[in-house]
Amino acid sequence: MSTSSRVENTITIPVEQELNPWQSQAARFDYAAQKLNLDEGLWKILRYPNRELIVHIPVAMDSGRMEVFTGYRVQHSIARGPAKGGIRYSPDVTLDEVRALASWMTWKCAVVNIPFGGAKGGVICDPKKLSMGELERITRRYTSELIEFIGPEKDVPAPDMNTNEQTMAWMMDTYSMHMRQTVTAVVTGKPVNMGGSRGRREATGRGVMIVCDEALKRLNLNREGCRVIIQGFGNVGSNAAQLMCEDGYKIIGIIEINGSLYNRNGIDIDELIEYKKKNNTIVGFPGASPADGAELLTTECDILAPCATENVITSKNVERIKCKILCEGANGPTTAVADEILAEKKVFIIPDILANAGGVTTSYFEWVQDRMGYFWKESVVNERLESIMKESFEDVVRYAEAHNVNNRIAAYMLAIDRVAFTIRQRGIYA
Ligand code: GLU
Repeated sequence: MSTSSRVENTITIPVEQELNPWQSQAARFDYAAQKLNLDEGLWKILRYPNRELIVHIPVAMDSGRMEVFTGYRVQHSIARGPAKGGIRYSPDVTLDEVRALASWMTWKCAVVNIPFGGAKGGVICDPKKLSMGELERITRRYTSELIEFIGPEKDVPAPDMNTNEQTMAWMMDTYSMHMRQTVTAVVTGKPVNMGGSRGRREATGRGVMIVCDEALKRLNLNREGCRVIIQGFGNVGSNAAQLMCEDGYKIIGIIEINGSLYNRNGIDIDELIEYKKKNNTIVGFPGASPADGAELLTTECDILAPCATENVITSKNVERIKCKILCEGANGPTTAVADEILAEKKVFIIPDILANAGGVTTSYFEWVQDRMGYFWKESVVNERLESIMKESFEDVVRYAEAHNVNNRIAAYMLAIDRVAFTIRQRGIYA
């Protein structure tokens, strides 16, 4: 018999499944669906992904040896528009993880009310051990295996963990070679000179800052001197840190896998970014003291922003978390079991499907610009992003108050309700 943990008083998930992102997603989905009184048919439709593709791709390594990599693309829903979501490269990618991430994309796009469904992809590989040539060949072969399933009106990939603008350029080129024409709108997060959007690179971090601003207003807290700890210094974490630092927040801690930094007076993020560019690590940065990552995560602060990966706040450390606001720049950084304790501690959560939606929102702008062939100034992109993030924050917080649920469940309920409404209206083709 397995022991179970209570989530939100009604949902139980087996303790040994706590770290399975699919279980984390499903537990919140089930609870929100139940609160919505979602009918059984729609519940079944939305609980599982619509399509799951597994590809085994042969790739010639630099040594001349042939290697076979396994890749996934899961399309959770296309009810509200083309499937949308990133591609990650990591040795830990699993089908359950990609399933969870694909579902989260559906909910995320619905929370910010953009006309996309949800998808996610991943290739099991260790990019640190691969040359540029090997990465390019993996990307091109993976793209070609998915050729019938992706496209501007079908499924639009984007960057995620360990993929970037270059990866998207290779994907766009491979797809375009097959189509015999340049199709920029097949992926987002491209370089700006080939159909990328201004502001896309910083967009997720900018979105994180915008929702933090809104949360501070709600809680009557001041931005100046507000102490922030950020876990992860990749695209999301570093941009969030830089923009927040510019805006008067005090970034007192940065946590990375290979070393962390603490400075109670605030870290100069511009200098840290320069240092990382030169040294490829934040370790040894003279403007802060070295710190223990696990300790820093549980150090007192106003805002804690996990911006790296899943399962950072779990039953193991949640009791020691001491932030007022938890802003989830990453997907799934908090387990469903930990949610319950955070609620007891009255931590104000800005859930992932809202907090990190700035990335996909600007991806939506990129897709629109590509399709109209007319590109916007960065200030226009940023203004439109700000307006969507603010409105979505309001929607979620108001929903939470009206239905007496926490922000995470409110975000799920809002999203599920929007997707279910569309499915009911479209009807089921049978
Ligand atoms: N990978 C990002 C996310 O998880 C961006 C997805 C996109 O732009 O399509 O939201």
